Amino acid sequence: MTVRTRFAPSPTGYLHIGGVRTALFNWLFARQRGGQFILRIDDTDVARNVDEALEPILSGLKWLGIDWDEGPGVGGPHAPYFQSQRADRHRSAVDRLLASGHAYRDFATTAELDEERKAAQAAGKPFLYSRRFAAFTEADAARFATEGRQSVVRLKMPRESSLVIDDAVRGRVEFAWEREQDHVIQRADGSCLYHLASVVDDHDLEITHVIRAEEHLSNTPRQAFIALSLGYELPAYAHLPLVAEPGSRTKLSKRKLAQYLKNPDFKQVAEHGTRIAERIGLTADADTFNPVIVDFYREVGYLPWAIDNYLALLGWSYDDKTEFFSRDELISRFTLERINSSPASFDPKKLWAVQDHSMHALSVDEKLAFMLPFLVKAKLVADPVPPEAAATVRRVIEASGDRLKVGGDILAYADFFLVDEPPLDETAVKQRLAKPGVGDLMAKYAAAIRSVEPFEPAPLEEALKRVIEEAGVKVGDLVHAVRVAVTGKTVGPGLYDCLAILGREKSLVRLEKALPLCG
Ligand code: GLU
Repeated sequence: MTVRTRFAPSPTGYLHIGGVRTALFNWLFARQRGGQFILRIDDTDVARNVDEALEPILSGLKWLGIDWDEGPGVGGPHAPYFQSQRADRHRSAVDRLLASGHAYRDFATTAELDEERKAAQAAGKPFLYSRRFAAFTEADAARFATEGRQSVVRLKMPRESSLVIDDAVRGRVEFAWEREQDHVIQRADGSCLYHLASVVDDHDLEITHVIRAEEHLSNTPRQAFIALSLGYELPAYAHLPLVAEPGSRTKLSKRKLAQYLKNPDFKQVAEHGTRIAERIGLTADADTFNPVIVDFYREVGYLPWAIDNYLALLGWSYDDKTEFFSRDELISRFTLERINSSPASFDPKKLWAVQDHSMHALSVDEKLAFMLPFLVKAKLVADPVPPEAAATVRRVIEASGDRLKVGGDILAYADFFLVDEPPLDETAVKQRLAKPGVGDLMAKYAAAIRSVEPFEPAPLEEALKRVIEEAGVKVGDLVHAVRVAVTGKTVGPGLYDCLAILGREKSLVRLEKALPLCG
C-alpha cells in the first residue's frame, strides 16, 4: 500500500506552530514510507480572500522544506485540492447517505430542538434528539414542508454499542455511540458541513493515514460513521498531542501572547525577534508576527531546518536523548509509534538550543549567504551587494564566532561597519566614556594605533595593554570606552577585530570624534 497523508489547513492567514507540527509529521511519515504528502485546503467556511489567507501557509511550508506531491500550485491526479471546489462530491455523498438510510431530513426548528435539549438537561440525561421531525418518507417531508418548515440533513447515528479505533498514538480508543448527536451534515441551503466534506475528500484523495491534532479526536466517531456508511475503508488514525503553552498543558494560542511574555525564555525569544523586526521595518503585530507563528522565525533569521528539528521534538522523540537531527535523519528515524500522547509544551529554550546548534554547523560562507539578505532588507548594504561590503560582513561573521544566533543578529553586529557615523548609545556613553580619566587614556591609545603595524588584532591588543600598564589602570577602563567610541554600543565582535575590520583611518576618526564626550 502506498502511504498517502495530508495536511488540510484552513486559509487563516498565518501558519501556527501547532499547525505546522501536524504538517511536518504527515510529511515525515509520507517521506519515510516513500509515499505521498498531499496539501488540501479546507476553505468551505472561509469568508475572506482565500488566496491572500493561504499565501503565508504555502510560503511557510515551502520555507521549511515541507513540499507536497499534490495540491495547490502543483496540481495532481485528484484535483481540485480546494474543498470548496468539491461541493458536488459532497452533495452526492449526502444523497447516498439519505438513500441508504444513514441520514435523514430533519424539519425541527431551533426552538423545538432547544426545548428537547433543556428537557434532557433537566432530567440529567445526555441529549439525544427524538427524531420527531425526521422525514423518513417523501410523505413526511411533504407534510412538514406544507407547515412551512425547512430541513437540514442529519446523520442517523447508532445509539447502541460503540466504535473502537486503533489510534497509532493513543492505542485503543472506544467511543460510545449513545454520546453522539445526530450531527447535521447539510444545511437548509444545501451546503455541506465540514465533517462530511472532510471524510469524502479524504476518501477521494485516497488518504491512508489521517495524522492530525488531538482536538480532532472527538470528531472521529461521526467521521468514521460517515465513512463506513458510504462503504469506505477507514484510514489509519494518529492523533497528535497538543502543542501546549510554555510550561503548561493548555493549547498554545496566538491570542495569549501577553501571558506568555511572563515566561522569561519566551520573553527573550520574543523581544530579541522584535528588535530585529523593527530594524527591517516590520511592525510586530500579534496576527502576523509573534513566536506562535512560523513567519516570526523566518523574518528573524532562524534556520528552517532548525525549526523542523525543533518541531519534530514537539511530541516525538527518537530515543529520549538525541536532540539534533538532520533532515534526512528525521525522515529515516521518524515513526508514529514514538509519538507521545501527552501535551508537548512549546519550549523556547530548547528551540534556541537547536537553532544555536544549527547555526554553529554553518561555514562562514554559508552564514554570509544567509545573513546578507538581512542587511539588504535593513538597507545597510545595497542590492546587489557590493563585493567590499560582502568582504567586510564576512570578516564580521568570522570575528563574531558563535555570537550570531540568528540571521538577523548580523544587523547589530555589522551595522557600525557599514555606516559612516554609527549612532552612539547614550547609556553606553554615560557609563563608559564619561568616566574621569577616560579621555586621556583614549587619546594615548589613538596616538599609539597611528603607528601600529600591522593593523591587526594582536598588535592592536598589545598597544592597548601598553597604554593601560603605563597609566596603571585596569584593561576594562579603556577597552569598553574604545568599543563604545568605535561601534557606538557595547555589543559586537571582539574589540580588536572591530578595529582591524574598520581599518586605521576610520578607527582614528571615530576615536577622535569621541574624545570630547570623554571624562
Ligand atoms: N481543516 C482542519 C483543521 O484545520 C483539518 C482537520 C483534519 O485534519 O481532519 O484543523
